[in-house]
Amino acid sequence: MTLLKQLAGIVGPTNVLTDAADLAPYLVEERGLYRGAAQAVVRPGSTEQVAEVVKACAAAGISMVPQGGNTGLCGGGVPSEDGGSVVISTERLNRIRRIDPIDFTLTAEAGCVLVNLQQAAAEVGCLFPLSLGAEGSCRIGGNISTNAGGTNVLRYGNTRDLVLGLEVVLPDGRVWNGLKRLRKDNTGYALQHLFIGAEGTLGIVTAAVLKLFPQPTEIQTALIALTDLDAALVLLARARRASGDAVTGCELIPRIGLELGARHVPGVRDPFEAAHPWYLLLELSSSRPGGLRHALEEMLAEALGEGLAVDAVLADSVEQRRALWRIREAIPEAQKKEGGSIKHDVAVATSLVPEMIRRCTRAVEAAMPGVRVVPFGHLGDGNTHFNLTQPESADKQVFLAQWDRMNRIVHDIVTEMEGSISAEHGIGRLKVAELAHYKPALDLDLMRRLKSAMDPRGLMNPGKILS
Ligand code: FAD
Repeated sequence: MTLLKQLAGIVGPTNVLTDAADLAPYLVEERGLYRGAAQAVVRPGSTEQVAEVVKACAAAGISMVPQGGNTGLCGGGVPSEDGGSVVISTERLNRIRRIDPIDFTLTAEAGCVLVNLQQAAAEVGCLFPLSLGAEGSCRIGGNISTNAGGTNVLRYGNTRDLVLGLEVVLPDGRVWNGLKRLRKDNTGYALQHLFIGAEGTLGIVTAAVLKLFPQPTEIQTALIALTDLDAALVLLARARRASGDAVTGCELIPRIGLELGARHVPGVRDPFEAAHPWYLLLELSSSRPGGLRHALEEMLAEALGEGLAVDAVLADSVEQRRALWRIREAIPEAQKKEGGSIKHDVAVATSLVPEMIRRCTRAVEAAMPGVRVVPFGHLGDGNTHFNLTQPESADKQVFLAQWDRMNRIVHDIVTEMEGSISAEHGIGRLKVAELAHYKPALDLDLMRRLKSAMDPRGLMNPGKILS
């Protein structure tokens, strides 16, 4: 029997897609950087079906590419162009198996869309704090496999910090059941952490036990105008102290980010009368109502008095809060409409972010006169999306041809500052060469040994992370 017939026998014929039109959305990466090919897209509906599919592919020596919502930004979820692989989509693994407001845990299958998990948690008075721009379409298995960050990391951590247990189908089709709800378990190696951030190279996550938190009942959001980048760090530290460490979001927005958003994205407008070089979007939240507004206002009055901040707006309604977040979230969309953009997703120690931005800006501007630097993002985590927009009159393709050169300039500085060349998006296909260049030889050696121990035939998502 051919492999495709065998797969149809496992998942049903309607869940083995082979028509070009049906395959198309699974074969292109979010930004259109990669377009792959595949024998088929298979959509198993249970862990057992995933295991059977993996066994069949492994027996046939066919490589497999796990895919969630396909919103990843490094090409990890799309197959290579050779067309030899099978894409295994988790979209039918979408049940919430258990939700427990006493344990503060939620057990969900890998294909659950992130926003649905947030809503399910809210229905029982809890918060699942992972939050990112793609939350309406990314799936929890993808979030786990990329160790996604997002806007609440400062207070709640990365996805890794939100996972208690996992269920994983290994590259040979065996099911590893690590689906524990334990907060403490020191019985040897914490195996679940191997799969978190592994981008589907070590197995297919089929379910997870996730941590929940009390739902905030008070949220205060402010957009603060600054003349000086260093002031942002002082304000962040002060807000943490003044609020009893209730800062849940701390996003940096440069003037050009706001301008591009207002130019290209409906609903984005500058809430200030004057233009300012930097803005800090600060959000405080607590499950204990009362007190945060006062703390924020007091802190801001002091900062304005001292000249640390120049102006500030506080959200008075849910709509106003959304409008302030829209300014931040619109930046990538606005950059896309402005022409070519070269991306960096870097991290340094939080206290070094201003210096990193200044050094990288000087270096890229010297290397490419006219380039427009748009550094924005999760300041509270030391994570900057140090993005570059093409010079106004430049040709997009000529600009994009500079991608590797610009990456090298920025990544050299970040590495010199003991930072990371991929803070939250992962490696995928996009940064395989960069990882090989910057990661110490011993790290790469350990990673390769781990990969070959768990996937000796290299069938699980080949060509991703490691070459
Ligand atoms: P996919 O893109 O489908 O897959 C990503 C990787 O995980 C691939 O390597 C794939 O093979 C693997 N994978 C997927 N599912 C499984 C599974 N069940 N088992 C094993 N491997 C699997 N990321 C952030 O970290 N922070 C942000 O703030 C952020 N904002 C974003 C905003 C926008 C508008 C967009 C488009 C993306 C953003 N991202 C962000 C990137 C992306 O949303 C995340 O990487 C997300 O976690 C990917 O989830 P996904 O389900 O789409 O995974």
